[in-house]
Amino acid sequence: MEMKQILHNKWLEIDVNAVKSNLEAVKTMLEERTRLMAVLKADAYGHGASNIARLLFQSGVDFFAVSFLYEALELRKAGIRANILIFSPLVDEDQVKEAIKNHLTLTITSSYDSQLIDNISQRLNQKVNVHLKVDTGLGRFGMDTQEIIAVCNSLKENPNIYIEGIYTHMAEAAADDSNYTEGQFAQFMEVCQRLAAAGLKIPVKHCANSAVFLKYPHMHLDAVRIGTLISGQYPAGDFPKTLRLMDPYKFKSQIISLRNRKADTYLGYYRSYRLKAPAQVAVIPVGYNDGLALEIANKPEGIIDLIKKLVKMVLFYFDSPRFSLYIKIRGHSYPVRGKVFMQMSLIEIPLNVNVSVGDEVEIPIRKTLAAKNITKIYMREGAAVKIEDEEGTSYVVEGD
Ligand SMILES: *Cc1c(COP(=O)(O)O)cnc(C)c1O
Repeated sequence: MEMKQILHNKWLEIDVNAVKSNLEAVKTMLEERTRLMAVLKADAYGHGASNIARLLFQSGVDFFAVSFLYEALELRKAGIRANILIFSPLVDEDQVKEAIKNHLTLTITSSYDSQLIDNISQRLNQKVNVHLKVDTGLGRFGMDTQEIIAVCNSLKENPNIYIEGIYTHMAEAAADDSNYTEGQFAQFMEVCQRLAAAGLKIPVKHCANSAVFLKYPHMHLDAVRIGTLISGQYPAGDFPKTLRLMDPYKFKSQIISLRNRKADTYLGYYRSYRLKAPAQVAVIPVGYNDGLALEIANKPEGIIDLIKKLVKMVLFYFDSPRFSLYIKIRGHSYPVRGKVFMQMSLIEIPLNVNVSVGDEVEIPIRKTLAAKNITKIYMREGAAVKIEDEEGTSYVVEGD
């Protein structure tokens, strides 16, 4: 394996063709009028933002979005010259200056943001594209109708500011009940109509993330903001699985120690597991510091959710096979035993299975929880590729 020369004992393999194929799948549901904004936040959901941006750009995506300024700057440093929308507000002059100098598209979420951007674009005498954010019921960022109208009126005097877009974000598009989502949408459309009536035509209206995109085609509007689907997954919830998605992501490592152990041998801190039969026990150099066995510890969403979580915990405690963690070696799954260590974990493999030290293993680590510093290898048809070298630098936007 190419990995040998890199001397890492864990790495991510990202399948370039899978990303492209997911993009094509999404495009089949796009109407002509609707632009695709690829969301590359959280390091492109763990796939490596710069390389995914290059890849998508080569496939015709010319609009990206991230949550934070530093994420957008990382893309600019990597030579990405496409449009990049930053979802979250910038909080001081230095941040806004940096953003304007880098031709980033900013979100105005309040009159505070508006004044800051207004002042600095005048001072620098530099143009800036902005999108207005409407809060229709998520309770995160955004303004109500009155504040938006006030903001638009105050920005009228500044020729440097171009209000390119207006958007909102849905709170529960994946839920079975569509009432809240339809309500948010109606509120959003009403704000847009009020603005139009006041003579403000904002060209790019958008409100769809992956879940909205799948379930509510009438909400596609002028642009959709897609992250999860491009990264090869359906959003959490029940969706008709009509798009064929491919997971581009594999977390790999190798066996670094292998010992035969007798029945009743204890494994792990606090003797957290006892072998029921003699077995081979492999050590892999991946632990909770890498994201293994981490869960998102949000408050349960309701009583049903709470019960589900409790049941899962109990079954996990009793080593119920369905709720154990498994890693894959040569196509077969073997359970992780004992408490996961900070940087290591133990795997039970039956005695009759032929494995050796150095064997490659595949580990189920949630992509958005994997540590960011792990080496990423981009693969095409099983071989490592360098996206920059192989595809040239043609991702640069000409003449803007
Ligand atoms: C993360 C995010 C998206 C993308 O959502 P997916 O469900 O991953 O497609 C879109 N819009 C905003 C504001 C987001 O924060």
